[in-house]
Amino acid sequence: MCGIFGVYNHKEAVELTKLGLYALQHRGQESVGIAFRNGGKISRSIKRGLVQDVLEDNQFKVQSSFCIGHTRYSTTGGSDIINAQPIVADTPYGQISIAHNGNLTNSLKLRGEYFDKKGYIAPVIFHSKSDTELILWIVASLRKENAFSALKSALKIIKGSFSLIIMTNEQLIALRDPNGFRPLCLGELDKSYALSSEPCALDVTGFKFVRDLEPGEMICIDKKGLSSLKYSKPKLSFCGFEYVYFARPDSHFNGITVNDVRKELGMELARESPVAADIVTSVPDSGNAAALGYSTEAGIPFEFCFIRNHYVGRTFIEPSSIKRELDIRIKLSPIKSVVKGKKIIVVDDSIVRGNTVKNRVNLLRESGAKEIHLRISCPPIKYPCVYGIDFPDPNELIANTKSLDEIAKYVCADSLRYLSLDGMKKVIKTKSCFACWDNKYPVIPEDEPAKFKF
Ligand code: SF4
Repeated sequence: MCGIFGVYNHKEAVELTKLGLYALQHRGQESVGIAFRNGGKISRSIKRGLVQDVLEDNQFKVQSSFCIGHTRYSTTGGSDIINAQPIVADTPYGQISIAHNGNLTNSLKLRGEYFDKKGYIAPVIFHSKSDTELILWIVASLRKENAFSALKSALKIIKGSFSLIIMTNEQLIALRDPNGFRPLCLGELDKSYALSSEPCALDVTGFKFVRDLEPGEMICIDKKGLSSLKYSKPKLSFCGFEYVYFARPDSHFNGITVNDVRKELGMELARESPVAADIVTSVPDSGNAAALGYSTEAGIPFEFCFIRNHYVGRTFIEPSSIKRELDIRIKLSPIKSVVKGKKIIVVDDSIVRGNTVKNRVNLLRESGAKEIHLRISCPPIKYPCVYGIDFPDPNELIANTKSLDEIAKYVCADSLRYLSLDGMKKVIKTKSCFACWDNKYPVIPEDEPAKFKF
């Protein structure tokens, strides 16, 4: 996952992009980068770390009316700074910079075959290990009349999930893959435009939300204004996990607010899996809305049992398991006076590896909880994601290796229930990708299984 943001034609484009990246911080915490037009050239600044730390660096104190930004969380290529984005390259069409959210499902195949056939030696021309650079090199190698035409041709070659913001010296180009796995939306402010992974970043920067880009749509913004091209027939498979966990609750996709979806998921969960208890609580922050929904539907009062330390990032997207473990411990503290002697329903949005939830249940036990009933507002995640969410190894997915009873025992819960797939589909009615739950992949990966660890 990553957050991407871009501004065209605003005198404070760099500052607005930085603000946009703040609002998209939850989508990636490994590195931050901006690319901006600097005289006749495109320059870039990249650094490892969180937006708030990185942007104090002098290299980010620049002025431009044209800027794109990226906050990164690696699914391909690792978290080295060499893989940070946006990437900038000299091409036959002049300089191009690209910011990518997604994951190509044929990048290894393309690296190995496409470039060998063309006579390139991949290790010589590739500077990073990310699939984003591959897109740039395909565009550069196609020898079309301009970057826009080359990009159009490249889109017939690359497969998988890609929401892209691309900057040339004259244009801002943005597009979504034909399945629309990852979000991307357009905002407007006077004669300026912004593009953002999520609408929440448009709100923060003062841009008015115009619309989601459609799957299979490419837009181009330049001096003449905005033009749109439907380069492929749309096959909507928007990522269901964006609604369940990843996106910010105040964002909306396909006209539906994430917070509302999460609340509905919690209500459906309460109808499917009721249990007698004194209070309902959430695992903050992503479990809050589902827990409120559960509490409303069940008629059991909601109480906060955890205080969250806001200076620790999201544990799920920390790249190493040791760091994840340590972060979980300092992230949440139980409120003992609320917990002691209570039968508690704990609503969480999902269980991926199981270590996070186990630690939270233990914290409640240590604080004197009488019973702990765990309710999860999505079905068991059993299959890897090949479209840009970091659960590529099925052996790491607890629901793939343990039964329901075994998981309940492992996480020390008195009972454990997940929302059913039908229940989730009742709430998320738009055509979506549910592959990590139902094993039905909208785009079959062409790369070697090793890349995705099937
Ligand atoms: S497999 Fe799961 S996480 Fe990946 S895109 Fe589909 S719904 Fe989202």
